[in-house]
Amino acid sequence: MTGRRTVRTMCPMSCHPTLCGMLVEVEDGRVLSVGGDKDNPDSRGFLCVRGQAAGEIIGNPKRLLRPLIRARRSADGWREAGWDEALDLIAARMKAAGREAVGLWSGHGLFANNYGTRVGAHLLRRFANFFGCQWWSPTIICWGLGAFGIGLTGALEVNTKEDMGEHSRLIVLWGANLASQPNTGRYLSAARRRGAHVVTIDVRETETAGQSDEFIVLKPGTDAALALGLMHVIIGERRHDHDFVAKHTIGFEALADHVKAASPEWAAAITGIPAERIAALARRYADTRPAMILIGGSSMHKGANGWQGGRAIACLPALTGDLGVPGGGLGPRHGARTHGQDLNNDILALDRRPLGRYVPDQMSRITEALVDGRVRVLLLAGTDMMSSFAETGRVGEGLERSDLVVVHDLFMNDTARRFADVVLPSTSWLEEVGCKSTNTHLYLTEQALEPPGETRSLAWILRQLAPRLGLAADFYPWVDDDGPIDAVLDHPSTGHATVAALRAAGGIGALRISHVAHPDRRFDTPSGKVEFYSERALTLGLPPLPVFEPLPASSYPLAFRQGRTLTQFHGFYDHGRALPSLAAADPEPRLWIAQNDAAARGLADGARIRIFNERGEFEARALVTRRIPAGTVWMRDGWEGLNELTSGRPCIPDAAVGLFPFGAGQAAFDAMVEVEAV
Ligand code: SF4
Repeated sequence: MTGRRTVRTMCPMSCHPTLCGMLVEVEDGRVLSVGGDKDNPDSRGFLCVRGQAAGEIIGNPKRLLRPLIRARRSADGWREAGWDEALDLIAARMKAAGREAVGLWSGHGLFANNYGTRVGAHLLRRFANFFGCQWWSPTIICWGLGAFGIGLTGALEVNTKEDMGEHSRLIVLWGANLASQPNTGRYLSAARRRGAHVVTIDVRETETAGQSDEFIVLKPGTDAALALGLMHVIIGERRHDHDFVAKHTIGFEALADHVKAASPEWAAAITGIPAERIAALARRYADTRPAMILIGGSSMHKGANGWQGGRAIACLPALTGDLGVPGGGLGPRHGARTHGQDLNNDILALDRRPLGRYVPDQMSRITEALVDGRVRVLLLAGTDMMSSFAETGRVGEGLERSDLVVVHDLFMNDTARRFADVVLPSTSWLEEVGCKSTNTHLYLTEQALEPPGETRSLAWILRQLAPRLGLAADFYPWVDDDGPIDAVLDHPSTGHATVAALRAAGGIGALRISHVAHPDRRFDTPSGKVEFYSERALTLGLPPLPVFEPLPASSYPLAFRQGRTLTQFHGFYDHGRALPSLAAADPEPRLWIAQNDAAARGLADGARIRIFNERGEFEARALVTRRIPAGTVWMRDGWEGLNELTSGRPCIPDAAVGLFPFGAGQAAFDAMVEVEAV
């Protein structure tokens, strides 16, 4: 792979629903330049600062290049090892622990080259099914819980950003932030040029607020109360779509009765939004057709009742009859699919999974299993568990007790430094073949470089471990790395695409999808209708109607929330510290705090502070700003140690976490905190 050439690929960060096309100029194993791909129909040349920084992965002196093993968990205990020694050690410990004491978990890093097609995560799950060990869904750290609430109502599909730009007359960005999904911005601007009205609702003034006609700030964890207040006005003033409600929903009478108590004044007292603003938003939403709601995001879902917000909000377009129409319904959302978008999941080999005592797909139960020793060997792929799990003080206790922790990644991370016994060096997105899927297109990401050092893909590692563990030979029936990709793509939605066919077509393929969600008015519920009243929820021990439940009382005064910025991607690349431009752009943790709250604590902008609560503490600098209301504090996510502050309690019952094809067992992540000068 020598000689200067330009390779078409995708950004290895996956800000779904934004995935950006990238052109990389390479020569003799080096990256000469990285730029946006104007021919990519999703991103049209856009590449943000994070994407630009991806070129710094290649040739980076901090890159892991050889397997590392240590006999004791100390910083000076590492030694380089050969692959055979590392793999023999892992297999021996897996066998010694017993299959049910082995856990596999992957994070966003494993999706760098296959977001949307999930080939890497599917192979890991296939391995777990053949071996009979624990496997947990990557979605338990982010969108799964929010989608659970939406799914109870039944509107899981989304309209596309292109549809929004072309047709929506009102757009409500409810916790959705353009720092997370920048490609939505182009279509938001197009809609505004047409005269669409844009409303942003969030816990702080986000990047999106500046591109909105209205910005509404609410107290963290009160989204469901606002949605119920809106329903009170819409139904009370008979602004709902009687015909749609009669034909396509169930439980309207019960809902109407239920929201009588949720007056704008009631919602105002909970959300902090004036009652007249709530009533005005309800009238605007009901009377402007089509209206699209884009549901976020960490500010809403990273909270014990986050799923209740999603559930209540998803009732709104059903009330106004705005589902199944261009420009209406729910818009692009992380992890959500368009109508018709699907893949072949046979690769999972669910039928090969033996009976066993499996720990539910529930973050809090996984932590418990680590702490009480039911899981003693852990293989982590493309994730920094100590950054992404909640209540990491307890997670650390569990990891401390484990027999073997294996981390497969590009760079060292917190979990690897503190708890790993074996570190395996990973190929980057340019060093292996992959395929990504947006809501509308497939993108082949060709191998452009030889893997440096002894870096290997996860697929290779699993193929080496399989015979060592005595797995059946058909664990990997394919002859090359294209095989699993072809198997996943073998579905009518992709036109039965293959790597070869995509390659012949220049690496881009259109999906056979509808830009409008639920065009057939069939919904993801047992009744096939939108369920305002859900028997399914009742059976699971959850309220049958959408409710607002206050967050647990606390003696700490400030509500903490976390989210994304334009200069970072969760805990990727050792919190960005391994990539010089991201490290320079975002050098240290800063806590947004309101001027009143800062003044009451004698804190100046830039002051060193301690954030603390009953679970732990974290040091940062104060960012004193008008852009956040008193009583709320906010910080970008992913910083090492930050999640020592957040609650690891479960949000929904264990029986509910697998209701949909995605794991919904996210921990509460709530945190009430106090702040003081250091
Ligand atoms: S928004 Fe930035 S980080 Fe996200 S996929 Fe696009 S270029 Fe990559």
